[in-house]
This record gives sequence, structure tokens and C-alpha cells, in this order.
Amino acid sequence: MISQKFTDFVSEIKRMKKEKNAIILAHYYQTGDIQDIADFVGDSLALSQKAASNNADIILFAGVKFMAETAKILAPDKKVLLPDINAGCSLADSCKAKDFKKFINDNPGRTVITYVNTTAEIKALSDISCTSSNAVQIVNSLPPEEKIIFAPDRNLGNYVLNKTGRDIVIWNGTCHVHEEFSLEAIIKLKEENKEAKVIVHPECELPVRMIADFIGSTSALLSFTKIDPSDCYIVATEPGIIHQMKKENPQKTYIPAPPRDSTCGCSECNFMKLITMEKIYRALKTEKPEINVNKKIITAAQKPIQRMLEISERLGL
Ligand code: SF4
Repeated sequence: MISQKFTDFVSEIKRMKKEKNAIILAHYYQTGDIQDIADFVGDSLALSQKAASNNADIILFAGVKFMAETAKILAPDKKVLLPDINAGCSLADSCKAKDFKKFINDNPGRTVITYVNTTAEIKALSDISCTSSNAVQIVNSLPPEEKIIFAPDRNLGNYVLNKTGRDIVIWNGTCHVHEEFSLEAIIKLKEENKEAKVIVHPECELPVRMIADFIGSTSALLSFTKIDPSDCYIVATEPGIIHQMKKENPQKTYIPAPPRDSTCGCSECNFMKLITMEKIYRALKTEKPEINVNKKIITAAQKPIQRMLEISERLGL
């Protein structure tokens, strides 16, 4: 049952959005109720594109810190709010600026492509940003002889390397959610649901990717379930995306892929799930916590993100 307090938060959020000319951008990994009150729901690429082109004075990011930082980098004059400042990312944390500088120095002469799931400092050290929606196309858009550093996700990096055959050295980082899926449990589920298709995010490990019927970013997985004729899917990514899949095709069945430890619920991103309706309400009311990024870092980090957005636009992504 929906409580009076929850209803009050929702109506107050809607009122304050108008009053303050604020928009809420929500990632697909947020809970369904938060996705439903957002002005825009998407994956990292779509959210970056939206952050770069809107008329709001305030962007409230229902997502994690690197996403809010990306919004601030793209829209430095706007106030960017993150309802819980502790909403970090294990993948972004796996790549520290000091260590990454050394990695670049140890691998000279390479174009540095970093996944958007990085801190602003890492973006400032990069030549081009990418997301899981456009990583393969961005690498393929470069001249064949160009040598590349890819960071921070080693599974996405290996996926891009296999797809492109390019000379790529890969940073050894991982996302704690996508690493946790159990190959054995997915195979067992598939035996019990013979008609189900296994759809997998490229941040998953190779053995899980090898049994996939389809591999793609969160938005690609969503698009696939829209057009594919199957009625059942085993979904190997953060289960928040299933909310949108159900909205698009409620008659289909979506089974979250189980993690290795069936007791931990660790296929959910505990950072994403720190954001709640009450925290969104408080953040809009107090206009805190605000995300600020050092001006020099903003200037340096704008270049790789703009380059990604330009390539994506040129390729119609
Ligand atoms: S799902 Fe993984 S990559 Fe995405 S925010 Fe959570 S920890 Fe980071």
C-alpha cells in the first residue's frame, strides 16, 4: 500500500520541479517509482545527451556520482543535485587518477578511451569518453592503426577488443554487479525456461557473454525486448531495467539473472539504490547535496565527452 507520506513526497517533488525549473534525470537502474517521476529516463549516453541540452536551472540526478559529475561538466552553469552523496560506483572507484596517470605513461602513444563510468579526474586525462552503447562504434571510428588504452571496465574492454580486433590495452577494473552473475544459475534457469533468451550487458564476464542470445547496453537490451518475438528473457544486468521492459511489453516474462551468492541480492547496484523518493524530495527542497567540479577539471573533461557526443551524433547513435 502506498503511504500518505510517499504520496506527499511525490506531489511536493512535482510542485518544486515547476517552481524551481528543475528536471529529474533518472538512470534505468533506479527503482520503478523513481523512474516514473523522472522527466527523462535513460542509460549513461542518453542521460549525458539530455544533460547537455535542456533549459532547466537545476538538474537533479537520480543515479550515481559520476553521472551527476558528467552533467555538471556538460552544464557547468546549472545547479546539479545528487540526492545521496554516497551514491558512488565500484567501477569508477577501481580507477584512481594517480594510478591511471602512471598507466598512461607506461603505455605511451595510445589514444585514451574511458568509459563514462569514471570520475571527472579520469575524464580529464582522456581523449574520448564512451558508454556501453557506443564503445564499439567509437573505437571503429578511429583509424585502424591507432593504438588504444581502454578503461576502466576490463569486461567491456575485452568485449570491444573482440568486436573490433584493435590494438587495445585494458585497465583491470570491474563493476561489482555485472561480475556477480552466476553462469551455472543462468544455465539452470535456461534449462527450466527453454524458450527464454539470455540477454547480457557487456560488463558481464566472458563465460556469461558466451551463452548470451543478445549482448548490449541497457538501452540496447530494452530495444531488443521491444522488437524481438520471444516471450521470455533472462536479464543479466541490474534488474532496474526490467521496470521499463515491463512497461513496454507487460505480457512478456523477464527473469533477473541470479548472482553467485543467492543470499546477497548483489545483482542490484547498492549505490544506485541509495537514492529514494524521500532523498529526492529533501534534495530538491534544500538544493543539496550539490555536485561541484573544479573549473580546470571541467574544461579538460569537456573535451572527451564532447568528442563522444559528436561521434555519436555523426554515427546517428
Ligand atoms: S551498476 Fe556497476 S557500473 Fe553501474 S553504477 Fe553500479 S557499480 Fe557502477
